Amino acid sequence: MAVPKLKRAERDKFILEAVILEAVKAPRGTRDVLGDETWKWAYVSEICRNVADDYGYREVHLPIFEHTELFARGVGDTTDIVEKEMYTFTDKGGRSITLRPELTASMVRSYIENEMNKGPQPAKLWGIGPMFRYERPQKGRYRQFVQMDMEALGAQDPLVDLEVIDFSMEIYRRLGLSNLQVVLNSVGCPKCRPVYRKALQEYLKSRYDDLCDTCKSRYDRNPLRILDCKSPICKEITENAPAVMEHLCPECAEHFDRLMRGLDKIGAKVVLDKRLVRGLDYYTKTAYEILSGDLGSQNAVCGGGRYDNLAEAIGGPHVPGVGFASGIERVILTMEAQGCSFGRKPENKVYVVAAEPSARLDAMALMRTLRMNRISADMDYMGRSMKSQMKNAASTALYACILGTSEIEKGVVTFKDLSAKTQEELTPEQIINKLK
Ligand code: AMP
Repeated sequence: MAVPKLKRAERDKFILEAVILEAVKAPRGTRDVLGDETWKWAYVSEICRNVADDYGYREVHLPIFEHTELFARGVGDTTDIVEKEMYTFTDKGGRSITLRPELTASMVRSYIENEMNKGPQPAKLWGIGPMFRYERPQKGRYRQFVQMDMEALGAQDPLVDLEVIDFSMEIYRRLGLSNLQVVLNSVGCPKCRPVYRKALQEYLKSRYDDLCDTCKSRYDRNPLRILDCKSPICKEITENAPAVMEHLCPECAEHFDRLMRGLDKIGAKVVLDKRLVRGLDYYTKTAYEILSGDLGSQNAVCGGGRYDNLAEAIGGPHVPGVGFASGIERVILTMEAQGCSFGRKPENKVYVVAAEPSARLDAMALMRTLRMNRISADMDYMGRSMKSQMKNAASTALYACILGTSEIEKGVVTFKDLSAKTQEELTPEQIINKLK
């Protein structure tokens, strides 16, 4: 913000006010999810949890921050995430700490640290929580966002890749999503990728000068990323570039073939995309994304794949793994765009109305009885008139329970159905039986 020319005292006041103003705004790229939305989140998490249970994955809670080294090594220091997007700071003990930009590296770290190799294999883990990336915010892209992540660690079999893809599709099926496309590729392994890398560099050499600046810098360090550059000129240059698929070693080709047969067996429709390399260095063999036709440019609701060398990259033993992460904000945006159901919106069933101020304590006691019987209830705490309590009741609840001196004397409540506009005198027990 430009600070205008002012006298010192005025200037200090101006800066202070600006700081205070900033402090009452959520930081760029973050957002408050409030009560009119959180119930949708609870619904989506519940479905994720149900699918995880059905597929035999157990939930884990991992730290929101880790040693920076974990991501530098695991995600790869030539990736956008590590180069530009991490929230890294030095803690009071002088350690370099990073707010997690993704969960896979932490899952693998946890597998190694907790010696999960001694338990049943593959270890099947899932988790949900906030991730942090310093990206340019736009619709569907935030600096703090929530991912549901699942990983199967310790198995090589392509049937596990199939389970992972199927798991993600099953979540979206249960959420009622349509208009999704599963795109798939194989990015090879350290045996075949160097050969492909060379072939790609050879192909791009004559057009090097035309590449965008970012891709020029990728040419030596990470040429595969040039394939998924969004710039029209780079897209045109790579249009007929050789595909990784044509350079797979026999092991990767066999893996891919068995996965394709599995997908065919379960009737999953996938589209092969030779440009799909994913932003993260650790992928080997399978890479996939699920794209929504109802989002703008940020259209991936899910991304995942196999990463057989990640554990070694972070200094552990060889642990093959495969998994995916799905962005919950984008899932909800797609569900909203498609008019999917989020289950039942929580609402107050009953509003307890005190006809006179002297009835407020009895109203409170009745409300408590209802709540203890799991009937959601609320009342006025602002000393409002009976008329305005009734207005509140009509806008926030399905029924009103009115208590005044005469009701209290008789031990009854005036029970009003606010939509049918009918009313009757009932005892609290009768109300509970009626509403339960
Ligand atoms: P990635 O970890 O980059 O493979 O991303 C996996 C999924 O997380 C994506 O398909 C998105 O659904 C979601 N995602 C990634 N980055 C963001 C972001 N900045 N904002 C919101 N969702 C994101």
